[in-house]
Amino acid sequence: MIAIERLMRAGDRQQPVRSGEVWLVGAGPGDAELLTLKALRVIRRADVVVFDRLVSPAVMALLPKKALCIDVGKSMGCHTLSQTEIDTLLVELAQAGNRVVRLKGGDPFIFGRGGEEMVHLQRHGVVCHVVPGITAASGCAAVSGIPLTHRDYAQSVRFVTGHCRNGEVDLDWRGLVTAGQTLVFYMGLSLSETLTAQLIRHGMAPQTPLAIVERGTLPRQRVLIGTLSALPALIAKQRPVSPSLLVIGEVVSLYRTTNVIAALPEPVLTA
Ligand code: SAH
Repeated sequence: MIAIERLMRAGDRQQPVRSGEVWLVGAGPGDAELLTLKALRVIRRADVVVFDRLVSPAVMALLPKKALCIDVGKSMGCHTLSQTEIDTLLVELAQAGNRVVRLKGGDPFIFGRGGEEMVHLQRHGVVCHVVPGITAASGCAAVSGIPLTHRDYAQSVRFVTGHCRNGEVDLDWRGLVTAGQTLVFYMGLSLSETLTAQLIRHGMAPQTPLAIVERGTLPRQRVLIGTLSALPALIAKQRPVSPSLLVIGEVVSLYRTTNVIAALPEPVLTA
């Protein structure tokens, strides 16, 4: 048996099966090889997998054939189930004695409402474990060769959501415009005009470099490079699709096409 397989089975022995438990698992940004070993082990022994739209086909291919897979298909403005219905479903599945995996794109605790699901499960007495995943910012930075921090360019990085609770954009624009800081906008495409206008109004240089990483780590990923003031025009011309991430800051000047590391389309590990 290869070492990885031995490690995963050893992990199984250390965690005896208890009924009524949920694992909030991060599926990473798309490339199945970016799953953690722990995520793969937990997924492989799931009875039920409740998954989102962002979970890639390559990761879906690793789900055990025997598991019941439920698509709760959340994308912006289009929810197969409401968040309340998802919360209720998770509690009911766990209370029926299933090993439930709630599989989410990226990391469950970064803009994935994993925190809300965890609190709901705990309130209902359901044991909830969390398995972290590689968040889109890390995956997209890696494949585009754009470091999110660099001693010469950025000493901090902010992960910001462009999608707010009531649809209103209510961000601390002044706090976002800080020297030596990289901004990463999740779900930011639809806000591009507001975002550009507000950042410039609050003092960010219009020439600040930015990148749009479309389908980062997935087979058809694209990296679009531009400047802050030209963001709406870049989007209008190239029409990036979801999922896409915006990276804004001087670190983007380190982007070279020769940096780009192609995602591996085929997973090496299989179910
Ligand atoms: N929990 C996830 C984020 C969920 S919010 C994580 O940690 O990555 C959904 C947003 O994440 C998308 O709208 C997009 O902005 C970003 N995203 C997720 N996967 C991505 C990918 N493969 N490439 C680019 N952006 C991605």
